[in-house]
Amino acid sequence: MDNHNCPICDKELKAYERYPNYVCKECSSRAVSKTGRKLIFSNIDFSGGYIAYYEDTKEKYNSHLCFIDGVECIADEARFGGIVIQVKKIKSKIANM
Ligand SMILES: [Zn+2]
Repeated sequence: MDNHNCPICDKELKAYERYPNYVCKECSSRAVSKTGRKLIFSNIDFSGGYIAYYEDTKEKYNSHLCFIDGVECIADEARFGGIVIQVKKIKSKIANM
């Protein structure tokens, strides 16, 4: 089995071939908009779908783009249910302390 580490906090996670750059639940919960507002992601209903909104005002957020610790990420509906957030671009390993 291949291992996967969260690209944000380096925590060990289960590897999914479909989501090579996905981040862990804890990091996903820190996702914010470009302006630094906390975002909530969820499925539209039991059949899935993707919806995002601002945590403070519950206003709809019409984008898949989010930031976790300043790293650009993309949130989307997960095939296995729920929401998956993946980093857009893997950080250089050199910067990985
Ligand atoms: Zn993490």
